Amino acid sequence: MSSSPTLSVVIPVYNEEMNIGKLYQRLCSALKPLNTDWEVVYVNDGSKDRSLSILQGLAESDSHVKYIDFSRNFGHQLAITAGIEHAKGEWIVIMDGDGQDPPELIPDLLDKAKEGFEVVYARRRKRDGENFLKKFTARMFYRILAKITSIEIPVDTGDFRIIHRKIQRILSKMPEQHKYIRGQISWIGFNQTFLEYDREERMGGATKFTYRKMMRFALDGISSFSTWPLKVATISGFIVSAVAFVLIIYSLYQKFFGSTEPGWTSLHISVLFLGGIQLIGIGMLGEYLGRVSDNVKNRPHYIVRDSNIADAED
Ligand code: UDP
Ligand code: MG
Repeated sequence: MSSSPTLSVVIPVYNEEMNIGKLYQRLCSALKPLNTDWEVVYVNDGSKDRSLSILQGLAESDSHVKYIDFSRNFGHQLAITAGIEHAKGEWIVIMDGDGQDPPELIPDLLDKAKEGFEVVYARRRKRDGENFLKKFTARMFYRILAKITSIEIPVDTGDFRIIHRKIQRILSKMPEQHKYIRGQISWIGFNQTFLEYDREERMGGATKFTYRKMMRFALDGISSFSTWPLKVATISGFIVSAVAFVLIIYSLYQKFFGSTEPGWTSLHISVLFLGGIQLIGIGMLGEYLGRVSDNVKNRPHYIVRDSNIADAED
């Protein structure tokens, strides 16, 4: 296939041996009726199970199947990034490899996009098979993020979406290390809309996102698109300083004109309070500074070990 396909489907894969085959079947039957040329770009993100050999098997028997094999686990967002970069289609779909994003929705996404949208994202109406804490923290996070960022990042939306080649080109010019792709795509603009769908349970296996990973991801999202936490540090610093100033006047007044009690309690409280506020401020600075230093290093985002795409290996 030398000519470019119309549709590329990008799927990150990390230990999904139980799901690859079934999802591939569902994908094929969803795309066949479309009568367009398509490809699927699997990105194996350092899987430790048989995922890679299953993908290579698929690629051998079906020329629609492309794969990129990372040298180690680089994380979901970078796996998607690699897939998008090497997708050849005019339209690119991003979806998970565990069946939670139904491939059956792709024809609808494509139809909607062709009405004149560069981005159509799939918004989750409900989420099955995820526990209360995950749903609650996700809900809170999306709403807080929407409040404190200056761009409109849609709530309750993962990376499941279709984007036009134009968006791919612009994404490749946004080289930040800590990716929050759904935020980057919102930031780019053009015409964006959404379709609603019911998020299904994983077909097999367990989630790869621990709460720790989700926390890091949330911080990436916030620090990439908002400087609000830094402002909080500054504002609370001012407020605390004002209070402290009043207290200093008060204690001096007490010393010279009132009775000086050994004020250990108040002393302790104020020292601890100030210490806490300062640490919060320093912590926030650190979060941003760490990311600045990562970006200054300018390392490649991911390293490819093997691929059946001609230009994917370095
Ligand atoms: N994934 C990945 N690298 C990782 C973690 C996850 O490529 O380090 C893939 C995973 O195989 C799946 C998708 O990203 O296709 C979403 O992961 P998961 O289903 O674990 O996340 P959840 O749906 O629980 O948020
Ligand atoms: Mg999942």
